[in-house]
Amino acid sequence: MTDHLAGGYDLVIFDLDGVVFLIDKPIPGAAEAVERLRADATTIAYATNNASRRAAEVASLLTGMGVSAEPAEVLTSAGASAAMLAERLPAGAPVLVVGAEALRAEVRDAGLTPVDSAEDEPVAVLQGYGPEVGWKILAEAALAVRAGATWFATNTDRTLPSPRGPLPGNGSLVAVLRTALDRDPDVVVGKPQPALFRTAAGRSDARRPLSIGDRLDTDIQGAVTAGMDSLLVLTGVSGPADLLSAPENRRPTYVAADLSALFRPAADARVPAAGDEAGGWRLSREGGSATLTGSGDPVNALRLLCAATWDGVPVSAVTAASSEAGHLLESWGLTNGSEAP
Ligand SMILES: [Mg+2]
Repeated sequence: MTDHLAGGYDLVIFDLDGVVFLIDKPIPGAAEAVERLRADATTIAYATNNASRRAAEVASLLTGMGVSAEPAEVLTSAGASAAMLAERLPAGAPVLVVGAEALRAEVRDAGLTPVDSAEDEPVAVLQGYGPEVGWKILAEAALAVRAGATWFATNTDRTLPSPRGPLPGNGSLVAVLRTALDRDPDVVVGKPQPALFRTAAGRSDARRPLSIGDRLDTDIQGAVTAGMDSLLVLTGVSGPADLLSAPENRRPTYVAADLSALFRPAADARVPAAGDEAGGWRLSREGGSATLTGSGDPVNALRLLCAATWDGVPVSAVTAASSEAGHLLESWGLTNGSEAP
């Protein structure tokens, strides 16, 4: 079977949280999707902005959840940052590390010297998330950057998912230094920058990579920037309302409720949907407004509506002409102008 979505690609790059697992539990169907891709001889990569774990730890975390993974398949923003620094700096150069032990280990393994004081005259500051990061090391980092060190951030995710709700992520800690220094980092490595994706494609010599993510502002924007096709799955952070109002550089090639779409025809997930009908839904446009009617799989309605909103119809000008359509728009938080009978 080659007409299914995944059949058109030689590499599938998975984001982790919101795609493969949710905080600490596997997302149903993820393990099966990975196995099926392997059976089809499709190369797999896992790309994560999280810089607090090493590739081998991430691989064993996944394996422990029943999702097969090799350390060589995992790309973390920590590993990518250390590799980028090693390319730019002489061997053994001192790098002030703000972050978890995993980040220090990556820096060490890349042939550089992790330090923790501005007095060590670091030539670079590498900042990544770490639960123990506090004022002292941030102060050293501020001094080092002021003294001329190049400031790298592994990623700028504002929050981290947790069972208790979103917690401050590396972007929040970067904001501390940004405020203190009144400037931005020199280099941000993780998504939405394309470095992780390009590394993944380069490693496997992929010619047709597909990137899968749950966030438009990191995963999908990163794929667009890297020139890759992408699939947004609705199992994580970004939802239908986000997709409808996505700017051009955050629009995926496909959207699906979950990873099972990989094994169905690509046309069924392509966004926007071609034509004005999809799976029982119908969209009509008049001037600057659009009306949805019919019923069916919500993702098909979403694919249809994106054709209108991505073409300039304001989300507030989308109305419903069937009760199913009305309920759907309401469930997406779009109640403006709804005219459900
Ligand atoms: Mg995610």
